[in-house]
Amino acid sequence: MISVEHLTKCYGDFVAVDDLSFEIDEGHVYGFLGPNGAGKSTTMNIMTGCLSATSGRVLIDGHDIFEEPKLAKKLIGYLPEQPPLYMSESPVEYLQFVGEAKGLRGEELRQQIAQVIEQTRIGDVQHKRISALSKGYRQRVGIAQALLGKPRVIILDEPTVGLDPIQIIEIRDLIRELGRSHTVIFSSHILSEVQTICDEILMIAHGKLVAFDEPGKLEKRLLSPNEINLVTDAGAEQAQKLLSPIEEISSVSTSPMDGGYLRVEIRTDSGDIYSVSRKIFNAFKSSGKVLLEMSLKKANLEDLFIELSEGADDGGSNADSNESEAKEK
Ligand code: ADP
Ligand code: MG
Repeated sequence: MISVEHLTKCYGDFVAVDDLSFEIDEGHVYGFLGPNGAGKSTTMNIMTGCLSATSGRVLIDGHDIFEEPKLAKKLIGYLPEQPPLYMSESPVEYLQFVGEAKGLRGEELRQQIAQVIEQTRIGDVQHKRISALSKGYRQRVGIAQALLGKPRVIILDEPTVGLDPIQIIEIRDLIRELGRSHTVIFSSHILSEVQTICDEILMIAHGKLVAFDEPGKLEKRLLSPNEINLVTDAGAEQAQKLLSPIEEISSVSTSPMDGGYLRVEIRTDSGDIYSVSRKIFNAFKSSGKVLLEMSLKKANLEDLFIELSEGADDGGSNADSNESEAKEK
């Protein structure tokens, strides 16, 4: 449905999106997960034709977003990070305006407006001024305008940011619901949110795709190589020799520490890590060497995500930094 090919975006010398490639299939909910400054908004702005790319291309159902923007954009509904809502208007007036801009007229326009108002449940505020609405309702109005024109793909940039907990739950439910009839791509910097809503996670950091898989599989893959770290008074050679009979061990690396101690990092693919650590303990015990420290390290999605987030937030404020280059829709 969507094909992103070697997408790169530079701001001067700074590479915000770095040779990004991925495919989006129809009918799934995709979560674009990454810390602030990862390049999520930049990528989404390019995918929706609101921002030009430095190189690479985006095809929406075979149509290049820059070469055939009309055909490509018809297939996408977009809620940007800062939706351009007109505060003095009511949701109905705003939807009328957006619908006309999307080429809808007359009865068709009227019907679609009624439909998206119902879908996003903004009926009770449809005639109030947008400036008087809560952030949660404004976000729904933003989603409603994305739905006009019946696009097959809905792209939502951080739709739950700035909402209170109840509103967050409501918007998440709405995203799930939209996922039944649309391909949905939404971005978030909250791991648990992406884990619970989407069928596929695209993890992005420093403008690069670092993982792309189903939430469960991603976690399983990351959990499998378990690590045992220890500190001993054995020498490197002796430690290797003590550990070599233990079949479940897949790799051992050692590094000397101050005071003549040795740090050993052991990896195992065994599902029963305690059985492996028992064998290691017994091997050292029978040799008369001492284990001064022994710890288990289990990788999980949260760890990986935190690791990726570290150092990624150095770009300063980027909440409105896309505006200068964003083109008119
Ligand atoms: P995310 O949405 O994942 O938080 P963005 O795509 O907004 O990330 O930003 C990615 C990086 O590009 C950030 O480091 C940000 O500071 C930088 N950036 C975004 N827009 C601009 C711009 N118009 N000019 C310069 N740098 C920008
Ligand atoms: Mg963003």
